[in-house]
Amino acid sequence: MKYVGAHVSAQGGVENAPLNAMEIGAKAFALFTKNQRQWKAKPLTQESIDAFKKNLKLADIKPEHVLPHDSYLINLGHPDRDALQKSRDAFVDEMERCMQLELPLLNFHPGSHLKKISEEESLARVAESINLALEATSGVTAVIETTAGQGTNLGYSFEHLATIIDQVDDKSRVGVCIDTCHIFTAGYDLRTTEACNETFSQFEESVGFDYLLGMHLNDSKPDLGARVDRHQSLGAGKIGWTAFEYIMQDARFDDIPLVLETIDPSIWKEEILALYQFAA
Ligand SMILES: [Zn+2]
Ligand SMILES: [Zn+2]
Repeated sequence: MKYVGAHVSAQGGVENAPLNAMEIGAKAFALFTKNQRQWKAKPLTQESIDAFKKNLKLADIKPEHVLPHDSYLINLGHPDRDALQKSRDAFVDEMERCMQLELPLLNFHPGSHLKKISEEESLARVAESINLALEATSGVTAVIETTAGQGTNLGYSFEHLATIIDQVDDKSRVGVCIDTCHIFTAGYDLRTTEACNETFSQFEESVGFDYLLGMHLNDSKPDLGARVDRHQSLGAGKIGWTAFEYIMQDARFDDIPLVLETIDPSIWKEEILALYQFAA
């Protein structure tokens, strides 16, 4: 089965996210459990937690099809020790919020080396950060996202993800999220069926589909290999519909949240419908 949705708003409280998902015919969704541009957030209230769980049932969406995204400020590979600690504390807080909501996944971008340490050193710090977070929490899996490789961001190659996973102690609580826009602008072609075959067999070789726990379905404004992160509505960018049809018809992408982060929320409902039609 395919579970498609979008990164919906949690404005007014996390409990609104499942309702926003339901409204667009989603069977999966992503959300921020706190303001993604601030370090500090008020703890979730019991009222909000209870309402979230109730609304999730109402929307008929399973917790494993919800893909919470952490704050953009967090850098788990930070070269500076104090800044790294700040990020690690914030990441544990994000994981604890997922535990409170009984959501088993937390999606995050690996981090940036900021040209102060090597990629290898920074990747090792990301892995160490994950190990510390997994020790401090339970029931939540760390889901590393592929990135476009903009600036000094890590995660623009499948090998980066493999290197991190390799150094994580509890492999049952680590996974990955492929963002189609990000891998495309990082240089993995998706424009034809043959290109998809090649890209996803490279993924299988480096990381393995066992670790694939979610996807972000986005078309791309920039061209292949541009290393710039700019999403586009499905079919309106440089990737085109073929890749999304491919994903919807391939069983390797079954039973995980497939989440739109495309730029026009007013057409999410139609995009979701179009995707389900490919799977039919
Ligand atoms: Zn993404
Ligand atoms: Zn992006």
